Amino acid sequence: MKKIIASLLALTCITFTAHTQAKYKNYQDSITAEAVKLEVWTTVPAVIPGAFTNEAPSDAIVLYNGKDFSAFHGRDGKKIGWKIDPDGALTDVKGAGDLITNQSFGDCQLHVEFRTPAIVKGEGQSRGNSGVYLMGLYEIQVLDSYKNPTYSNGQAAAVYKQHIPLVNASREPGQWQAYDILFKAPVFKENGSLDKPATVTVLHNGVLVQNNVTIIGPTDWVRKPVYKKHEAKLPLFFQDHGDDGNPISYRNIWIRPL
Ligand code: MG
Repeated sequence: MKKIIASLLALTCITFTAHTQAKYKNYQDSITAEAVKLEVWTTVPAVIPGAFTNEAPSDAIVLYNGKDFSAFHGRDGKKIGWKIDPDGALTDVKGAGDLITNQSFGDCQLHVEFRTPAIVKGEGQSRGNSGVYLMGLYEIQVLDSYKNPTYSNGQAAAVYKQHIPLVNASREPGQWQAYDILFKAPVFKENGSLDKPATVTVLHNGVLVQNNVTIIGPTDWVRKPVYKKHEAKLPLFFQDHGDDGNPISYRNIWIRPL
């Protein structure tokens, strides 16, 4: 009798388990079918990331690689007065003029490495001052902001006179630093009025310092910025601030139009 009861129990157990497994499988299949609907297979993002030597990714346009500055021109037909140091750094010379890209860009990811002078001269805005002018209009400030007080919305990684960086991630003078900039260009309506303002995200030495902030207009030192309709793509430039304390250096500049 005991044997019969044990056999019946075992049979019930097997039947129950098989039933549960089948039900679970059906459930899994329906979940999987739903999940598959959300899978995107038609767009395949692919890029070979640079090696850990700050190499540009495979799809980037290299603007400066330590050898020549042929991707740039001077303002108003002037010759570029910047010099290439033995270590490949592209260094500003007083009054050398801005470095303007030959190509025009709108939405982009931009990587820039810069070095403020090891020998510190000047203070505040006269110490390692340069700038990355997106579209030639919207400045991300470059400055030696290592123990160098100045107005906060004019320090390194500020959207100049518009947005103070979330933190000061500056390294000591003479050390290489990096900006990684994600920029969305402004959009204008046919009638010239602003449709969407520009936005920017900036990482300074890998640290988030501008988190998708809205640019309120072209950089203006004196006045409140006001948008004025312009092309969807424009050259960007690197500022020659033109005074003594600013022989700023750049290297490894690349851009990925988005
Ligand atoms: Mg500047």
